[in-house]
Amino acid sequence: LEDHPNDANRIRATFADGSTLDADFAVAGIGLAPHTALAEAAGVKVEDGIVVDHFGATDDPRIFACGDVANHPSAWLKRRVRLESWANAQNQAIAAAKALLGTFEPYADIPWFWSDQYDVNLQILGDIPADAQLAVR
Ligand SMILES: Cc1cc2nc3c(=O)[nH]c(=O)nc-3n(C[C@H](O)[C@H](O)[C@H](O)COP(=O)(O)OP(=O)(O)OC[C@H]3O[C@@H](n4cnc5c(N)ncnc54)[C@H](O)[C@@H]3O)c2cc1C
Repeated sequence: LEDHPNDANRIRATFADGSTLDADFAVAGIGLAPHTALAEAAGVKVEDGIVVDHFGATDDPRIFACGDVANHPSAWLKRRVRLESWANAQNQAIAAAKALLGTFEPYADIPWFWSDQYDVNLQILGDIPADAQLAVR
């Protein structure tokens, strides 16, 4: 990726095969990997994140996990999932903290993500399949 040779407002991407693509800007979609070393060292089950139940409990009754790093059963999606969103980190943590204190209320939120991208507020509720129908309002 480099500055465009003739246009200061553009960039030029050069691909492995030598072809180039000029663009106004580039978005780096890097992703993340859950940091599970501590849980692995503790002997807790890890499989795309720390495996927990509806209360954030791992297979070691003394250890709980929540947020980005936790792979939990989603009552809504009907499968295990590891979510990377602010709302999940907060609300799963509330369920885990309650369970630690002896109040067992399963974490069963519908996955919800929001973000502000410049002047656009983006909200995603549920699970968006690849073939979802797009409606622009
Ligand atoms: C660039 C970016 C943009 C994002 N934008 C949005 C958005 O618009 N909307 C949204 O909903 N979500 C967004 N997210 C996701 C959101 O930030 C995360 O889902 C949320 O912060 C997860 O919270 P968490 O507490 O689970 O993990 P984290 O916030 O990652 O906190 C984990 C903490 O644990 C610490 N830690 C790790 N290992 C150890 C260890 N061994 N010992 C001690 N401490 C340790 C880490 O240093 C870190 O401070 C964004 C994330 C990124 C990176």
